[in-house]
Amino acid sequence: MDFSYSDKVNELRRRVSDFMDDYVIPRHRRFVEEAHQGTYTVSFLNDLKALAREEGLWNLFLPHLKEGEPGTRLSTIEYAPLAEIMGQLPWASEVFNCSAPDTGNMELIHMFGTPEQKKRWLEPLLNGDIRSCFAMTEPDVASSDATNVTTVIKRDGDDYVINGRKWFITGAASPNCKVAIVMGKTDLNADIHRQQSMILVPMDTPGMNVVRNISVMNHLSYESHCEIVFKDCRVPASALLGGEGEGFAMAQARLGPGRIHHCMRSIGQAELALKLMVERSLERKTFGKYLHEQGVVQEMIAKSRCEIEQARLLVLKAAWMIDNVGAKGARDEIAMIKVVIPQMQLAVTDRAMQVFGAMGLSPDTPLPDLWTMSRALRIADGPDEVHLRAIAKGQIKAAQKGAHDSGKFFTPPDRASERSIRADQIDF
Ligand SMILES: Cc1cc2nc3c(=O)[nH]c(=O)nc-3n(C[C@H](O)[C@H](O)[C@H](O)COP(=O)(O)OP(=O)(O)OC[C@H]3O[C@@H](n4cnc5c(N)ncnc54)[C@H](O)[C@@H]3O)c2cc1C
Repeated sequence: MDFSYSDKVNELRRRVSDFMDDYVIPRHRRFVEEAHQGTYTVSFLNDLKALAREEGLWNLFLPHLKEGEPGTRLSTIEYAPLAEIMGQLPWASEVFNCSAPDTGNMELIHMFGTPEQKKRWLEPLLNGDIRSCFAMTEPDVASSDATNVTTVIKRDGDDYVINGRKWFITGAASPNCKVAIVMGKTDLNADIHRQQSMILVPMDTPGMNVVRNISVMNHLSYESHCEIVFKDCRVPASALLGGEGEGFAMAQARLGPGRIHHCMRSIGQAELALKLMVERSLERKTFGKYLHEQGVVQEMIAKSRCEIEQARLLVLKAAWMIDNVGAKGARDEIAMIKVVIPQMQLAVTDRAMQVFGAMGLSPDTPLPDLWTMSRALRIADGPDEVHLRAIAKGQIKAAQKGAHDSGKFFTPPDRASERSIRADQIDF
């Protein structure tokens, strides 16, 4: 495995960094002001998007783009360092049309959409003209087990009728969000993994109501995490994404790349937290010493650097696996990064807050946002425990197949010779 950055990637890293420095980071304060006033699509976003597209820094994430589709066709491993740079600010990825949940949704429609669905939804998404959301989680059932979803998608003549309630649906309150990919059940009698289907629902469909934007840790996110009620919501049968009963398998396909993108962005955010921590330690003095001269603070800095490096290598390995053996073959690595990276980011951000003192908890630094996002990520896209369970299952299955031939490492005592040693034979 080779994780070194090619010349092409280094050039793109430089260009994305320059773009961030020149246009994105200087607007962060204004972004926060506008977003806190409840303006979800801030006034300057479209201008920045147009500029990024003009500079060719657009749709950097999708390796399998077809002829004529806008984007760079980078592999997953090439995209990783760029996602890290964009990920530093929670809103920056959208400038380059690389933000969640759109990237996962675009991949999904790209893989499974009909030509008509691609024309209607994929094209405007790839062009950054609209946004989308993905609606799977429900308040009434444990949704970390996707077989539990209870939303019903019932065939009625040439239509499907949807009834159910979803929540924590990221992006649904954005005025630019025009379509939801909704997961529900089309056949309650099928095999447990064949009951689910996905359907494309325009946000203005009668019977689909976004009832609230739910705050996360009492933090009302500008991107929104919404509760949506579907009551006799009717869409034409042609809106079904993939076939009936394929929803579960498609959800698995979507979550692989989606999860690694989140982890790449998290590494960028952890880097930012560490940078802030070190800079603060250089300027703040307590008990006659700068903070960076205190051993405890040095340990916090060093541990953070070690953990970020470990995490990045694991993400690059997962990216390499996705590129070389596919998301299915990289299942274990994807589960591992989904556990390791949010916990790493949480730990690093927490240390940075500690070094900052009270200011680290205030809105005057990005740290509370970074902390909240990493805490949420331990649950969003599947909680840690579910991924740990998947990793353990893989290990156990391999051992059961005999792949772990560890017997040769045991050295049982030689009982026969043990018995032959008796006290009366020993020369004391
Ligand atoms: C900020 C944010 C954004 C989100 N965005 C979206 C979105 O856009 N679309 C969407 O559909 N969903 C979204 N979600 C929802 C998220 O994916 C779910 O919350 C997650 O899958 C867990 O489902 P649940 O909340 O129903 O928890 P449950 O399934 O009820 O699980 C609760 C807890 O049980 C424990 N647990 C579960 N299974 C096991 C196990 N096998 N072994 C041991 N312990 C276990 C875990 O600790 C888990 O946290 C988002 C969530 C957050 C916080």
